[in-house]
Amino acid sequence: MSSKPAVLCFSGLDPTGGAGIQADIEAINSQGCHATAVLTALTVQDTHNVHHFECVESQLILRQARAVLHDMNISAIKIGMLGSVAIADAIHCILREHPLIPVILDPVLAAGGGSSLATSHLIDAINKLILPHTCITTPNTIEAYKLADCNETDNDQYIIEQLTKTGVKYVLLTGTHANTLEVEHHLYCGTTRLQTFHYKRLPDEYHGSGCTLAASLAAFIAKKIDIIDATQQALDYSYNSLIHAQSLGNGQLIPNRYYWAPK
Ligand code: PLP
Repeated sequence: MSSKPAVLCFSGLDPTGGAGIQADIEAINSQGCHATAVLTALTVQDTHNVHHFECVESQLILRQARAVLHDMNISAIKIGMLGSVAIADAIHCILREHPLIPVILDPVLAAGGGSSLATSHLIDAINKLILPHTCITTPNTIEAYKLADCNETDNDQYIIEQLTKTGVKYVLLTGTHANTLEVEHHLYCGTTRLQTFHYKRLPDEYHGSGCTLAASLAAFIAKKIDIIDATQQALDYSYNSLIHAQSLGNGQLIPNRYYWAPK
């Protein structure tokens, strides 16, 4: 009997269930894949913002990931909130031990409400330790400026050149934060733009949209779907989750990642 592809997730816990590991598990399960979960941090948050977080001890993360990887056949690794340089270091060790597993990085630098989730030292560590081992990263424009140490006056091409220097293979530059009428997401391979994906701009704000995108993309890559189709399917799935999002708290809406399930 053939088994489901499994994805190893390194993510933080968001107790609202909107973002972080719960978003990953829901998005990965929705594509018929199995999610395995190594928590990097526990956060205190509501649907408005993150108020506090505490990191999991990095050696524990290393041991958990090694135990899973020793036991199971992992088809993709999805990385979300890292929390600390020590955790970036631990995950770097894992990536070096498993160079053939594709890595999908959602560079979680700030919460939707604005709280910082990464220091400048952690941003350096992402550039030096994680991006060189990454197949595809999914920054929004704000995250891309920060990673590439650019500002809004720099054009997309310059930002992509800077990101590509880290060694990352593909960049999906998401356009929800850009000042355009429609939302345009651009997929790059190195500095070459492979494809642009267009979506209607939705009026609301969402808690966990980036996690939904990167985790579903990890699942499609785990299913060995080629990068352009995997990106298209992950963007379609995420857009549908947002269209069906629900107002479960007083702040941002929570994507409905099970919109496809029977009511
Ligand atoms: N992961 C965790 C644990 C978070 O707390 C957050 C934001 O608060 C995110 C990821 C990123 O969320 P989003 O997908 O809304 O960018």
